[in-house]
Amino acid sequence: MKENFDFLMPSVNFFGKGVIKKIGDRAKMLNMKKPLIVTDKFLRSMDNGPVAQTLASLEAVGVPYTIYDGVEPNPKIRNIQEAKKVYLDNDCDSIITVGGGSSHDAGKGTGIILTNGDDITKLAGIETLQNPLPPLMAVNTTAGTGSELTRHCVITNEKTKLKFVVVSWRNIPLVSFNDPMLMLDVPASLTAATGMDTFVQAIEPYVSTNRNEITDGQCIQAIKLVEESLREAVANGHNIEARTKMVEAEMLGGMAFNNADLGYVHAMAHQLGGQYDAPHGVCCAMLLPIVEKYNIVAAPERFAQLAKIMGENTDGLSTRDAADLSIKAMRQMCDDVKIPRSIKAIGAKPEDFELMAENTLKDGNAFSNPRKGTKEEIVQ
Ligand code: NAD
Repeated sequence: MKENFDFLMPSVNFFGKGVIKKIGDRAKMLNMKKPLIVTDKFLRSMDNGPVAQTLASLEAVGVPYTIYDGVEPNPKIRNIQEAKKVYLDNDCDSIITVGGGSSHDAGKGTGIILTNGDDITKLAGIETLQNPLPPLMAVNTTAGTGSELTRHCVITNEKTKLKFVVVSWRNIPLVSFNDPMLMLDVPASLTAATGMDTFVQAIEPYVSTNRNEITDGQCIQAIKLVEESLREAVANGHNIEARTKMVEAEMLGGMAFNNADLGYVHAMAHQLGGQYDAPHGVCCAMLLPIVEKYNIVAAPERFAQLAKIMGENTDGLSTRDAADLSIKAMRQMCDDVKIPRSIKAIGAKPEDFELMAENTLKDGNAFSNPRKGTKEEIVQ
């Protein structure tokens, strides 16, 4: 537990039904003359979807824009290079990301290479950015990664298949938009995957060595909200209350890990995502019960508390037995939202494990894990 800490998040965060309509006014207030919209082809193709609604609001106040819609899941270096070219060719002066974590990270990555040098691989790590990014707003459409609020930019090097992170306060969007109405049509499997990412992003900071009292409160409320609403959001995507609670959980989890960091679930998920181009939330969810079971010995009381927060009855149990119940609850959540149990489902191959384990221990998220592991343990 940290007693002295800095706490970072965007300075303005719009939340609630219909807030997307405010983005045009906000672009004007920020003096954006020609933002580059960074998104993907599917979101752009949606009738009255998140991109269409963003553009309508900009058009209503006469803000011109250019679109880059080439973002791929687990965004690649080629995406940010392409987006940079579109930005420069069209004299853009700012960036608006529309989508889930991939669009936000691609937008941040584009901003990074516009102002901090073209080779983003040299900027991997913590606080490596010397110059501010162009003004950036983030319209979030999944619940979700929290990237619309965070200082993290996760990019995949398509040549080495390594996912790396540029962590800097300069990456934090100026303004975030979280409108649950933009998420009603997220399909069930994507709701499950992104919702499990939110769950993990509330659990890992709760047991992180960098946690503090503020992030603890955020994690507790985020976990409760996920327990209350994720199953329903997966089963009935048009339940606005469930979607709204998942967005609240997403924001709380995003704020928590932005300030308390994560652990081995994310450090390992980055290897699976980079190596096999697998959905990030699925990678995190598959690893969650296994990694946290391994972590229990380092923080049994925290895991016993987690069990209670997750709604388990721990009355009369020893700390260790109560802690084990938290793992049971995590496993149950994964099963209920149909997360595959084995990483074979995403094509993982044992011959890749050694290298992935080595890279796990170098990943920025590994350092705040409550238990320090060896390469052999990670392989296991
Ligand atoms: P995503 O952004 O990759 O989107 C997945 C798919 O969902 C896309 O095909 C997209 O078109 C579709 N989609 C998005 N919104 C939709 C909507 N409202 N309706 C219908 N379809 C929609 O998924 P994600 O899980 O949000 O992001 C994953 C990426 O974020 C990974 O690369 C991960 O490493 C990264 N990440 C970043 C941070 C951070 O703080 N920067 C944190 C966690 C994860």
